[in-house]
Amino acid sequence: MDPCDKCEELLQPFLDRELTDAEREEAETHLDACTYCRKRYKFEESLRRYVVSACREPMPADLKAKLAALRTPL
Ligand SMILES: [Zn+2]
Repeated sequence: MDPCDKCEELLQPFLDRELTDAEREEAETHLDACTYCRKRYKFEESLRRYVVSACREPMPADLKAKLAALRTPL
């Protein structure tokens, strides 16, 4: 499978949602046609989703309580 020039050109802005409607359409059309980009896109997207959810995940209440307890001066 050959690396594809379109990847660098389209994929990053596509993932960052920085494309115009026309550009996004072009990217989607390309993703449909290009196995390499599609695989990379899926990988990058799941990676990003993981990172985003790791950042947004609220801290569990019991962990928060434990951390608060640690901060309490003796
Ligand atoms: Zn491609």
